[in-house]
Amino acid sequence: MQSEAQGVFKYVILTPEIVLDMSVAALAGDRTAMAYRQAIESFLDCICTVRPTRQCLLCDGEFSSAALPGAFVALSAHREEAPQHIVMSALCDGCAVGADLNGRIMRKYRESMCPDLRVLYSVHPVHPVLQ
Ligand SMILES: [Zn+2]
Repeated sequence: MQSEAQGVFKYVILTPEIVLDMSVAALAGDRTAMAYRQAIESFLDCICTVRPTRQCLLCDGEFSSAALPGAFVALSAHREEAPQHIVMSALCDGCAVGADLNGRIMRKYRESMCPDLRVLYSVHPVHPVLQ
């Protein structure tokens, strides 16, 4: 993904509403929606089959079939086409709501991946279907 991105990444927050719309778009053949949907399906499969299970991107909350994510965060190379590689994370219900969600996600990415990460631009809302 590093070479694909050439240092420029994007992330999108996928709320349940967006995931539903994205699933409809994926069924209609939208390649971007299909890529995100497949990444979500893989994430959910890991929740149910892999131990230790996955944790919330922003806290120590663990997911299970009884504690599903409140939202997903998809990180990929910044490109116009459907992303080929997606790092899918998820947020627990508590972390998916509240003030400054983008700021909290950026702080987490700075702490865990890239200390000098900066925002080039922000597009909101990322709906309908992940423009
Ligand atoms: Zn959390």
